[in-house]
Amino acid sequence: MRAFPPYRAQVVTEIPITTRADRERALARAGYNAFNLPANMVTIDLLTDSGTGAMSTAQEAAAAAADRSYAGSDSFFRFRQAVADLTSYPHVLPVHQGRAAERVLFTSVLQPGQISVSNTHFDTTRANVELLGCEARDLPCAGFLDLDSHEPFKGNIDIPLLERTLSGPDGDRVGMVLVTITNNGGGGQPVSMANLRAAVALCRKHKVPIFLDAARFAENAWLVTRREPGYENRTPREVAAEAFDLVDGCVASLKKDGISPMGAFIGVRDAELASRCETLLIATEGFRTYGGLAAHDLERVAKGLAEVLDPGYLHAREAEAIRLAQQANDAGVDSVQPPGLHALYLNAGRLLQHLPAGRFPGHALACEMYLRGGIRCVELGSLYLGELDENNELVTPAPFELVRIALPRRVYAQAHMDYVADVLAEIAKDPGAVPGYRILDAPKVLRHFNLRLEPA
Ligand SMILES: *Cc1c(COP(=O)(O)O)cnc(C)c1O
Repeated sequence: MRAFPPYRAQVVTEIPITTRADRERALARAGYNAFNLPANMVTIDLLTDSGTGAMSTAQEAAAAAADRSYAGSDSFFRFRQAVADLTSYPHVLPVHQGRAAERVLFTSVLQPGQISVSNTHFDTTRANVELLGCEARDLPCAGFLDLDSHEPFKGNIDIPLLERTLSGPDGDRVGMVLVTITNNGGGGQPVSMANLRAAVALCRKHKVPIFLDAARFAENAWLVTRREPGYENRTPREVAAEAFDLVDGCVASLKKDGISPMGAFIGVRDAELASRCETLLIATEGFRTYGGLAAHDLERVAKGLAEVLDPGYLHAREAEAIRLAQQANDAGVDSVQPPGLHALYLNAGRLLQHLPAGRFPGHALACEMYLRGGIRCVELGSLYLGELDENNELVTPAPFELVRIALPRRVYAQAHMDYVADVLAEIAKDPGAVPGYRILDAPKVLRHFNLRLEPA
């Protein structure tokens, strides 16, 4: 039997329908950078799965009844209960979004000169480590580099390398280990429970704290039930709770698996660490019972954290990603295997072989999807990660030229995804016609948000 979403639409919103000429003008005005496009010029918006999920009637009903008391609001206690139903952390602090959780926790854990070790630091996570004068070191497992292999847990941290790092000359500079579930920077690939347990054992031995970056804790848990021997009969909630239980704490953006427009939390066991976080929280985010969040978002999060663990929902979401990957692959557009849940990563380097890395094939494919179909998505390749010289020419390419097609939660119907597949199939009929791009202007920091380009 095929999986279907365990919900139906009750409120809908119109999407913009544009002409090719509209889109050509809009993209030129945007400097050929999708981040500069006004959303009302985008038909299918697959830029991100962050804060873009559709609300349930239960979330909106709770939001309408939110308690906006400054301290100790009912909404806070419902939020805290929802987190307590999932984690055993005695100290839970709400924050406005994931990067605020990172800043508050890392400032309280790390000393300048220390190293944060991760399977892969997400971009804001890396920035928050580096802003503290620390080094963010990624140790993804070897399988991560093979885009086509069907290894089930390509999000894993490299355990032998972690062991060598902790017991080597840099070992006493490691201030924390952070395991990102799922590994967003690594194609949305999951981390196995066996890998997490092995990382925890090494951290205990070397007395280094270990935390989760748990933005997609439910999707990771689902993929564990699907792929890890011994977990077939466990619920996603049980697996997620076990992951949270294993470690010393977490940061979690709730704009992803919290299915909320805004929100995040920090959870820790250590009382002294919690009190350092709380001081910083109150000074920079908000009082400990709202942490920069409006009460209505505390309510949406409280419901979202439960809804996201519905196996029917996760199964349907997995089926959506697999189906789109299959359609793209059938049309000749390869994607990172095996498909995860929150996004499909297209192998643009392989499709657009006439374009060298310095003409940014990932970006070229993303622009083409917009021009042909009004679909917005983002490059993950040399434009984002490569090294440029002073003339904005590429000197060191990224290891891959990918396009990320993010899948917002509960938003698009199967027909929308079929349309995306159709647009890809059209492009794949004559990939040689897709032009490359050259950079006109590239700011030094957070470059991909502000780049301006032109067709080459
Ligand atoms: C989105 C994300 C963050 C940052 O969270 P925001 O809520 O966007 O600030 C951190 N880590 C990972 C893995 C993410 O996907």
